[in-house]
Amino acid sequence: MIFALSSGLPPSGVAVLRLSGAGVFDVARRLTGRRSLPPARCAMLRSIHRQSDHQVLDEALLLIFPGPHSFTGEDTVELHTHGSPAVVAAVQQELLALGLKPAEPGEFTRRAFLNGRIDLTQAEALADLVAAETEAQRDQARANAGGRLRHLAEGWREAILALRAEAEADLDFADESDVSVGDTTAPIAQLAAAIRAALATAPVAERVRSGLTIAVTGPPNAGKSSLVNALASRDVAIVTAIPGTTRDVLEVHLDLGGVPATLLDTAGLRESDDPVEQEGIRRARARAASADLVLALAGGEGLRVVNKVDLTGEAPGVRGGTAFVSALTGAGLEDLRAWLVAWARRQVPRGEPALVTTARQAHLLDETARFLEEAAAQPESLLRAESLRLAAASLGRLTGAIGAEEVLGAIFGRFCIGK
Ligand code: GDP
Repeated sequence: MIFALSSGLPPSGVAVLRLSGAGVFDVARRLTGRRSLPPARCAMLRSIHRQSDHQVLDEALLLIFPGPHSFTGEDTVELHTHGSPAVVAAVQQELLALGLKPAEPGEFTRRAFLNGRIDLTQAEALADLVAAETEAQRDQARANAGGRLRHLAEGWREAILALRAEAEADLDFADESDVSVGDTTAPIAQLAAAIRAALATAPVAERVRSGLTIAVTGPPNAGKSSLVNALASRDVAIVTAIPGTTRDVLEVHLDLGGVPATLLDTAGLRESDDPVEQEGIRRARARAASADLVLALAGGEGLRVVNKVDLTGEAPGVRGGTAFVSALTGAGLEDLRAWLVAWARRQVPRGEPALVTTARQAHLLDETARFLEEAAAQPESLLRAESLRLAAASLGRLTGAIGAEEVLGAIFGRFCIGK
């Protein structure tokens, strides 16, 4: 049995403690001091008792989710307690005393996978959904969490296995000229094309997942840091301001109309004797150099930005490929922001969320398509059947039907505790 605080860090209005595993219903009976539990999936108010001294720890909502129709596939209990640090700590202590173990990151989802509730593509999408900071990220993650890629992949795999059976039948009847087995070349090529079409969505998905990068460049004192700060602080939807790879890189995350973007100011980069810091600086420079957009405060590629219009008297706004702003007074920043939102939306076209969202998925689908293309080009039934077998195996690894053990750590390690 495992448990975790699935809601955020206390204090919060309500804290959700999730318990999963065989025996959690008995734990719920002991916590509440009652034989009877609420009906499945119905919340009821209960007192939570400490076993050792019978003290009431809190009044909480209790829900039970009998397996296999729960998220993890196991018997699951949810306790919605008051979200104070003291209540949460006391209930957690009691759960430990009752023999439950604190869940590892992603352990609930891992159990859901191991119990066949979800496949690996759904697990990956759930990790993205929990981490989603912008609308585009949420839409993309939600689509695959629902099993969109899984169902397609399972359908493709069945089709490939059927084609393989045909290729093998062709072998068996090779000597009997009166038995004709249909030509599988066209359907195999069609499957390869369908998989290639899904793969074409991967670059957009990657942009949505990791966000666009915008580097702010220019000579010292041009106002780079001021501009980054001004854009960040005026951005009501700012998501996080995290320290960059080195302490001298100012890096802020922006929500550009639903598209995530990272604004980089590498102005403070200086030489260093420390090899670790040198490596950080090298990476920061490389990142800025490969940015999707450069805001150039002097010359350069990208969008030219003329700062300090409060001093020069130039009219603020974006015109002719140049943004005239004042990082100090904020003049022109709304126009620059609108320009950035329009640019970001062009990089991430709206419409159907991408199907293929992780490098792992893209790699395995590319492999599948290549095996299918090999199969289509292969006149020998024996070799064709073998290529089809390999294609089906790659799809099996995509969903986790085959060889999941190797990737479980990498996938579930990304989760937070409680999911
Ligand atoms: P960086 O070296 O390019 O990062 O430049 P800073 O952001 O540190 O700015 C250099 C100096 O210019 C600071 O004293 C800022 O206060 C000033 N500055 C930045 N933007 C503006 C602006 O729009 N108008 C005015 N008058 N001063 C600014």
